[in-house]
Amino acid sequence: MAEIRTVGVIGAGQMGTGIAHVCALAGYDVLLNDLSPERIESGIRGTRANMTRQVVRGYITQEAMDTGLARIVPAENMADFNKADLVIEAATEDEATKKLIFKALAPHINADALLASNTSSISITRLASTTDRPERFIGLHFMNPVPVMKLVEIIRGIATDAPTYDTAVNFAQSLGKTTANAEDFPAFIVNRVLVPMINEAIYTLYEGVGTVDAIDTALKLGANHPMGPLELGDFIGLDTILSIMNVLHEGLADSKYRPCPLLVKYVEAGWLGKKAGRGFYDYRGETPVPTR
Ligand code: NAD
Repeated sequence: MAEIRTVGVIGAGQMGTGIAHVCALAGYDVLLNDLSPERIESGIRGTRANMTRQVVRGYITQEAMDTGLARIVPAENMADFNKADLVIEAATEDEATKKLIFKALAPHINADALLASNTSSISITRLASTTDRPERFIGLHFMNPVPVMKLVEIIRGIATDAPTYDTAVNFAQSLGKTTANAEDFPAFIVNRVLVPMINEAIYTLYEGVGTVDAIDTALKLGANHPMGPLELGDFIGLDTILSIMNVLHEGLADSKYRPCPLLVKYVEAGWLGKKAGRGFYDYRGETPVPTR
């Protein structure tokens, strides 16, 4: 098993900053990358705010926050990843983007460094095959929000070797997470079940079966879900939901996975959910207001 000390994270969005957060608190040195220094800085600001919330709630001490935050260092260039033992890609859910990232990264990292993708749905085998080290490539699928959610799905590509798998399980456990093994099929386990449910809730809205409020209330109180499906879709990001539906639709060639036209329309409008300030709810005021 490889020893992991320094973790590179590519993508300082919701997931990348969450991954950086839990790695730093667990004692790893973290190198954080995004498309621009401003995006990296904004990611670190977000992590600081989330850690502050944990201090206020008594989950971590101020000292743990200070040492943790200091371990997160901006990595503006791929060359900065030469110290990384493991690089986790958590950029936008787009296959071409991810492949370009791995291609750009390859010349700069150690020969024995491990590569992981946090993709929600794209084939690990396919991503791995475009790198110089498919045997040391694995899916590490964290859940959102990373500091709160206990699960990491571990997905082996066809070529992933046993030491890489063992290292990945060990690494996830060192972050205080529980792992579940998923085979490399579209959207793995959690999103194979969860995202079609959210898409179905959007169909329910599209067909006028219920309002945003009725649908979310129905699932919260009628199925004991902690969040309604539309609220959850906003939280995950509607662009991510659409990408996952497309991957399921294309990958499994079954019409039951067709994305709802209303979902497509929200994404086209840029109403991507909470991160954009608007989705099935408008988040720009004090309390979220349904947009339909
Ligand atoms: P996000 O939109 O919040 O963040 C993506 C970040 O990637 C952005 O900051 C963007 O600037 C950056 N990026 C894009 N291209 C890049 C490049 N070439 N180099 C460096 N950075 C680049 O998205 P997110 O919700 O954090 O999702 C990231 C990944 O995690 C996706 O693969 C997604 O499927 C997966 N994921 C998301 C969730 C979720 O609930 N949102 C859960 C599990 C996994």
